[in-house]
Amino acid sequence: MLKGKTALVTGSTSGIGLGIAEKLAAQGANVILNGFGDTAAPQAAVSAAGQAHGVKVGFHGADMSKPAEIAEMMAYADQAFGGVDVLVNNAGIQHVSNVEDFPIEKWDAVIAINLSSAFHTTRLAIPGMRAKNWGRVINLASVHGLVGSAGKSAYVAAKHGIVGLTKVVALETATTGITVNAICPGWVLTPLVQKQIDDKAAREGISLAEAQKGLLGEKQPSLQFVTPAQLGDLAVFLCSSAGDNIRGAAWNMDGGWAAQ
Ligand code: NAD
Repeated sequence: MLKGKTALVTGSTSGIGLGIAEKLAAQGANVILNGFGDTAAPQAAVSAAGQAHGVKVGFHGADMSKPAEIAEMMAYADQAFGGVDVLVNNAGIQHVSNVEDFPIEKWDAVIAINLSSAFHTTRLAIPGMRAKNWGRVINLASVHGLVGSAGKSAYVAAKHGIVGLTKVVALETATTGITVNAICPGWVLTPLVQKQIDDKAAREGISLAEAQKGLLGEKQPSLQFVTPAQLGDLAVFLCSSAGDNIRGAAWNMDGGWAAQ
């Protein structure tokens, strides 16, 4: 379905981004990965997922908090892949603290990585998409783009912000073949959430299993984690022709979290 297209997935060396990258590769898209840590294993996993289509897999290590590096990554995408057809703005970090204690540099980092990076990638990707009259921008927001939780001021502000950015760019491209949507996951068991489970276990003096159960029980009615593979399938659906007129949506996949 995506043969001949190129997908750039930010923050795709781990977790949800990697899951989405694998699903897009399995549909035949060439994929540009981005992120920190081990880069060889994620590249191998995405190549394997796209093996049947012989997909090309690239990597750029731009730091999503640095606009100049984001511009370099987009230039790499143009030069090595002929541009970005599917842009998945996924890179994100979390920091939990009440607002009066929230470190200023953490606030700035969360806003830069979780929100401003998507502005930069999007503004640089849209001209190429307009030239081809086809494109998909998929923003990994969160259920925290729809509702709040105590202790997450920067994260919730950034995620509500990215839902707003999604709506505006969807309107600006509404008469074109470019669609822009947000996905709003509930809890997904990735390193970002494992840290919160570890912190909860330490804070409350309970086991990791109890902390995991407590985390789900507090917010997610399904009592199950959403998986990166399920989110990858939703991204593939948004890339399909069935998604041609899904525009400006904030689509939650949250085990019922936002229905409460
Ligand atoms: P993760 O920690 O597993 O992965 C984050 C990825 O972003 C990694 O590849 C990391 O290297 C990369 N990254 C971090 N800072 C970066 C930077 N400055 N520049 C470039 N890359 C950077 O996290 P995840 O849970 O897979 O989260 C992915 C996205 O999904 C985030 O935007 C997160 O807010 C969102 N999300 C996660 C959950 C969840 O429950 N895990 C729920 C809702 C939304």
